[in-house]
Amino acid sequence: MILIINCGSSSLKYQLYTPDLAKVLASGIVAKIGEPEGYAEHFVGRRGERRHSETANHHDAFGVMMEALLSPEYGVLECPGAITAIGHRVVHGGAIFFGSVLVDDCVIQALHDCAHFAPLHNPANIVGIEEARRAFPGAPNVAVFDTAFHQTVPPKAHLYALPFELSTAHGIRRYGFHGTSCRYVSQTAAELLNRPIEALSMVVCHLGNGVTLDAIDGGKSVDTTIGFGTFSGVAMGTRAGDFDPAIIFHLVKELGMSLDQVEEICYRKSGLLGLSGLSNDMREICTAAEKGNTRCQLALEVFTYQIRKTIGAYAAAMGGIDALVFTAGIGENSAEIRARICADIGFLGIEIDPRLNAAARGGDPNISAAGARVATLVVPTDEERMIAIDTVALTRPGVAAMQEESPRLAAE
Ligand code: ADP
Repeated sequence: MILIINCGSSSLKYQLYTPDLAKVLASGIVAKIGEPEGYAEHFVGRRGERRHSETANHHDAFGVMMEALLSPEYGVLECPGAITAIGHRVVHGGAIFFGSVLVDDCVIQALHDCAHFAPLHNPANIVGIEEARRAFPGAPNVAVFDTAFHQTVPPKAHLYALPFELSTAHGIRRYGFHGTSCRYVSQTAAELLNRPIEALSMVVCHLGNGVTLDAIDGGKSVDTTIGFGTFSGVAMGTRAGDFDPAIIFHLVKELGMSLDQVEEICYRKSGLLGLSGLSNDMREICTAAEKGNTRCQLALEVFTYQIRKTIGAYAAAMGGIDALVFTAGIGENSAEIRARICADIGFLGIEIDPRLNAAARGGDPNISAAGARVATLVVPTDEERMIAIDTVALTRPGVAAMQEESPRLAAE
C-alpha cells in the first residue's frame, strides 16, 4: 500500500492508497498541532470520526496517524510492513530539485539546506520523512516538491531586476508554489480536452487560501505568480500579493514599524482579510458583499481584477491561450468568482456559458460557451494523487539505480 504524507506548518494530512492507486483506503488529518484545541480526523471510505487530539509537534502527530492506521477498531493496516512506499509533499526544493526524488541521506541534507526558504514548512516536511523512515524501515520514501514544476520557468521570467551577482549568490529568484497542483490539473485538463499537453498553452488559476496563476506552455510552467517568498502575485486569503516594496521602507522608516510587524501584516493581515476587514474566507466575503457590505464588494473587485489582469499578461506571454483552468477551493466552487473573472475578456477567446458555469461542480468540467476559442475548465485538484503517481513511478524496480546516477531525476 502507498502512504502519502503532507506535513503542513500546523497539520499532518495523510492518504492511504491501494498499490494500483485505484482506491483511497483511508485518509485523515491531525490538525492544530501545538494548540490545546488540536484534533484528529480519520476516514475509512465515507465513514470517519473527529476527536480531540492535542499534539505538541509533528513527531506526536505522526504517532497519532500511526495509531489510527493500525487501530484494531477502525484501522486499515495490519502491520507497518504492509506499506510498500511513502510519498511526501515537500514545499520548497530551492533550485536543487527539478522533479520528485527517492529520499536518501543526501536528499535529507539538501532539504535542510533549502529550509530557510520555507521555515514554517520544510522542517515539518523533514520530520514527516524521518518518522516514516523509522516507522517503515524497508519502504522507500519519495519527496515531491511544490517548487519543482516551476523549475522550467526561464530566466527572463524567474529573475528579478536586482543586481545579478546578489541574486545568483543568494538564490534570489522566483521559485513559485502550488506546482504539484498545477501539474496535476494541467495534465487532467489536457486529458479532458483529449489533446496532447505538448500542443496546449494554458493558464491554471489555483484559487484557494493561497493563490497561484501559472502559465503552462506545452506542459511546462513558463511563468507563475508566486515568487521568492509566498506572498507575491494575486491577493490571497491573508497574504498581500504584489505591492510596491517602497511601502515596506515607508512602514519601517516613517511609521516606525519593526520588520516583524511588517512581515505579520504582509503574510497574515492582508489579502481578502485586510481588504474586507471581515474574513479571509471567500464564502463569507461573497455573502456579505451580496448584502451590501462595500468593503467586501471592494475585496471581490480587487481579487478578480488582479486575476483577469494576470490572465491577460500570461496570454500575451504565450502568444494566446488554448485553455483556462480553474481549481482549488474558490476556483472549483465559486461560479460567481469565475463569472467575474471571465466577464468581458471575450477578445482573448474566453467566454463561459452561465448555465454550465453554475452547474460545474459535479457537472461538465468544460464551461466554455459554444464557439469560444478558449476552453474554460473547472478541474478539482488532487495533490495527493499526483504525489502518489510520482511515488509509484519512482519506486518501480530499476528506478533507484537511475537516481544514483542523477540525483535530480525528474519523475516524468
Ligand atoms: P487551501 O488548501 O489553500 O487552504 P482551499 O483550496 O481549501 O485552500 O480553498 C479555501 C478557499 O475556498 C476559502 O477562501 C473558501 O472560502 C473558498 N471556498 C470553498 N468553497 C467555496 C464556495 N462554495 N464558494 C466560494 N468560496 C469557496
